[in-house]
Amino acid sequence: MRIARLSALGFRNLEGMELVPGRRLTVLFGNNAQGKTNTLEAIYFLSNLQSFRTHRVRDLVAFSGEESRVSGQVESRLGTTRMDVAVDSRGRVPRVDGKVQESLGSYLGAFRTVLFCPQDLDLARGNQELRRRYLDRATFLSDPSHLVRLRQYQRVLKQRNALLKSGQDGISVWDERLAEIGASVHDARVRTLEQVGPVVTKIHEFLSDSRERPSLSYESDFSGEDVREALLRRLREGHERDKRLGFTGFGPHRDRLVVRIGAGTIERHGSQGQMRSLSLSLKLALLRWGAQVGGEDPVFLLDDPGSELDPKRLSLLGEFLDDWTGQVIVTSTRADAVPFPHPVDCKTFRVEGGRLVESGGE
Ligand code: ATP
Ligand code: MG
Repeated sequence: MRIARLSALGFRNLEGMELVPGRRLTVLFGNNAQGKTNTLEAIYFLSNLQSFRTHRVRDLVAFSGEESRVSGQVESRLGTTRMDVAVDSRGRVPRVDGKVQESLGSYLGAFRTVLFCPQDLDLARGNQELRRRYLDRATFLSDPSHLVRLRQYQRVLKQRNALLKSGQDGISVWDERLAEIGASVHDARVRTLEQVGPVVTKIHEFLSDSRERPSLSYESDFSGEDVREALLRRLREGHERDKRLGFTGFGPHRDRLVVRIGAGTIERHGSQGQMRSLSLSLKLALLRWGAQVGGEDPVFLLDDPGSELDPKRLSLLGEFLDDWTGQVIVTSTRADAVPFPHPVDCKTFRVEGGRLVESGGE
């Protein structure tokens, strides 16, 4: 799939931005604080109804305005779709072909993107919340019902925690339910990692010139043949501890995606460069996985890869993307930041003060 046209109005510093990206490659370059990441954020927002920089949608509305709008024409194997999202102080209103979408499920998935940005380094640095979210996103791509599963889990967890905090009795009622849904979240993530893990390993090997071979595993504090039984046992045994702490100490919300290179974990023993390669490998694997399970390539958004990767890794990234048939949109302070060996169907834009001006390319 690809985005054929994008416009943003009153979105951060983008006042009336129009973009017709390249079929394959688009480079957005310019000085700091001009609107490069804002443009990528607008595309990401159109795709995910969320920003990767803020949880408050009103941050996206221009300082000087009351509302903003992002629109795009998306081409996929299903045809051309017009997607747009309006944002104001009350929230966001997503539309597909002019029709307001009441449920997230009916909107998400029509335009799929994968983002690599400097904050992804935290994934490699061992932020387990981000790693769980990564696995959940990968699972969602192959199984959209994972979102429903996760929401149910969060709801039951919240109710159990509220009861723990209140000091009242009756926790056992929630144990069964939490174990039931928790086991299905756990199993779905394990199944995903079985497939995505080897892809991450392979890409990381490529990015490190075959010198490093990371292994990925999913670890829980409950284990056994029957995951539901094992979790239920842990929950029951942990009543006193949980009451003391005021929250649930066991469950998939505490599980870990562990990455080892050799004997040590990457966050404790890896170098900065190895961590950078890993965060990129994780995202490139998500891109491959999204293409495999979705039947077409997601759009790849790369925010300022030059700030994270050294010239060697940048050129290996260029080689990887040279083989990639999907659309890639990259921001950088320099027009030639990613050395693409064959920049076909490429467009380059200079970003200045929230405006985009095409500057040559092929
Ligand atoms: P860098 O190379 O430093 O990453 P950039 O071109 O990616 O720069 P952006 O993150 O896109 O820069 O930000 C561009 C400008 O948008 C910044 O000056 C920022 O202050 C401004 N900005 C952020 N939010 C808003 C908003 N809600 N309204 C207006 N301007 C905003
Ligand atoms: Mg930026």
